[in-house]
This record gives sequence, C-alpha cells and structure tokens, in this order.
Amino acid sequence: MQSSPDYAGRLDRVRQAMAGRGVDLALFSVGADLPYLIGYDAMNLPRLTMLVVPRDGDATLVIPNLEVARVVERPGVFGIRGWAETEDPIDIVAGLSGSPSSVAVGDQTWARNVVDLLGRLPGARWSRATELVGPLRARKDPAEVEALRTAAQAADRVAAQLHAGEIPLVGHTEAEVSAELSRRLLAEGHTHVNFAIVAAGPHAASPHHEAGATVIRPGEVVLCDFGGSFPMADGEPGYCSDITRCVYTGEPPGEFAELYAVLWEAQSAAVAAGTVGTPAEEVDGAARRVITAAGFGDRFIHRTGHGIGIFEHEDPYIVAGNGVPLEGGNAFSIEPGIYLPGRFGARLEDIVVATDDGPDPLNVVEHGLVVVEA
Ligand code: ZN
Ligand code: ZN
Ligand code: ZN
Repeated sequence: MQSSPDYAGRLDRVRQAMAGRGVDLALFSVGADLPYLIGYDAMNLPRLTMLVVPRDGDATLVIPNLEVARVVERPGVFGIRGWAETEDPIDIVAGLSGSPSSVAVGDQTWARNVVDLLGRLPGARWSRATELVGPLRARKDPAEVEALRTAAQAADRVAAQLHAGEIPLVGHTEAEVSAELSRRLLAEGHTHVNFAIVAAGPHAASPHHEAGATVIRPGEVVLCDFGGSFPMADGEPGYCSDITRCVYTGEPPGEFAELYAVLWEAQSAAVAAGTVGTPAEEVDGAARRVITAAGFGDRFIHRTGHGIGIFEHEDPYIVAGNGVPLEGGNAFSIEPGIYLPGRFGARLEDIVVATDDGPDPLNVVEHGLVVVEA
C-alpha cells in the first residue's frame, strides 16, 4: 500500500501560483481539482461543496453536512465546515473569503453558485483556477504515473479479451458489447466506467458514435474505445484509463487493411514524437503527416490526443496551435483516426507518458488489426 499523495505540498504550490498571479482567493468545487488537491471527490450536485483557499490562510472545505462522512480528514491540510440544510452555504464561503480583490474559481463550479458568489464578493476580479492548477496537474509525479499504468494495464487486459474472441460480437448489438466491455473494466479493478464506445461497420466513421441497437455482422470493423477510473489506493482519487482498438469480424478487405496500416504507422510516429521538449503540436503533426501523405488528411477530423489523469480529458492537448513543449510527467493519449463516412473508420489509441528517457507507452496490448471470428 502506497502512502498518500503530498496534498499539503500541492496546496503550497497552488498558493505559490496564486502569489505569482496576484490571486487572493481560490475556490474549488466539483471536478478533478478537488481530488487532486485534498483527495476528496465531491458529488456532482448543486448543493455547494467548495474548498476555500485564501493565499495566506488555512484552507476550509465547505460541504453539506450529509456528505461530511465521505471526507477523509487530513489534519493540517484543510479544515471542514459542514452546512445544515437551513443554512446558506454562499454566506459561509463569503464569510471565509474576507474581501479579496482577485478570485480564481474552478472550471466546473455550477453556474448558480458562481453567480451567487459574484454578488457576494463585489469588486473582485475573477479568473479560472485552471490557470493555477492545470500546469500542476499536467506534471504527474511517479506515484501518479504508476496509478495511470495500473489503470492502463487493466484496460489492456480487457482489450486482450476482445482480441482473443472472448467477447461475443457477431449477432450481438453494439450496446450489448458496450455493456460487456464495461462489465469487464469493472471486473479488472476499475471503480467507474467513463465510456465504452462500440461502433460497427459504417458507424466506425463517427468518432463519438453512441453504441446502439445495431447488430454486428460478419465482415465488418468493430471499433471499441473504452476507459474508466482506477483507484490509486483506498480513499485516494482514481486515475483514468482510455484505449481504442479495432477488430474485424472475419478477413478484412485489402482496402481496409491498407487504411489500418497507415493509421498504425501514424500512431507509432506520434508516440515516438512524444519526447520532453517537443511542442504538443509537433506530436500532432507527426501523426498527421503520415495520414496526409497517404491521402487521408481530410479524413483525420480531430486532434491527436488529450492529457489524462484524475479526469479523462485535461492538459496537455495534443493539437495544432498548442506550442507548449511537453514536460516530464505529462500523460496524454495518442489517438489518430481515419474516418470514411458511410463506409468505415478506424482509430488506435494508447496513453503515453513523456519521460527524460523518452516516451513511455502505458498500453502495450497488440496494436495490429485482429481478426476475430466471434
Ligand atoms: Zn474522444
Ligand atoms: Zn478513447
Ligand atoms: Zn482518448
């Protein structure tokens, strides 16, 4: 059993970032900042949960009384102020806030709470707390990398079961296969399933296709993109997996095999480009050049990848226009795709960590197009 993350150190670094940007007060509600900073994942409900962090004062978690029992107390890191159903939590936050001239608020705070706070902290300049925490969250420490690797290995085991034909495909609906992938993610140790896209035949040309009632037939591609959250340790936040593999129900036609070969080459090139110091957009470019050279440039219709951690989509984004160089500890997906509307499509996705020794791919399960007769 590993020890807890250094939550006090993380809050110290947030306060340093606040000082650097002239922010007096940071407010964090639902979303991934809270579990990163104090190990508590708030329920995504309108009843206000909010960590109040003055730059020069103690942090306090304002939380509905009925949810206090969910909190792992961490003395010296933050205090707890439960609120009763008859109290106004906005009053409580305002009372803890003093009169700040500059306030940063977490991205996913409910608008109703932000609007009420705007009225209670008049004259303050507001900014996004992501500017403070995003760069910290993007640099995973060794324990976080191992948590991501553990999650990736669990997702790999499910992909290996798919490759081995252990998941029935032909004659079953996309929705049934999606449910089976989800069940297996949980069986392999995930605590939540975030998504399980199953797209058969022409549906594979829609990157975010929702698994539906379509029955999978012999002789078509089945694109599976799935992931969930894997707990780091009891009572600590979970880290996400996210993987895409394609299988073919029978021998693929040459045209599809050629498309897949291009995709695999593009994905490998982008993984190899994921080195410390390389601008994120050049990693995107590495995949895009291969796909464009093969004539599919206009059929690769999304960015190459996204950062991943406690949340499944976070900094750094692997996309044209993001010139920020990768740093050691950045964890991100590499997931190029080629989509031919009305016909078929394919995507290949791994999670990769940039390290001083080069890119560290966390997913190692077979990358080729596997023929399943299931
Ligand atoms: Zn996606
Ligand atoms: Zn994915
Ligand atoms: Zn992804």
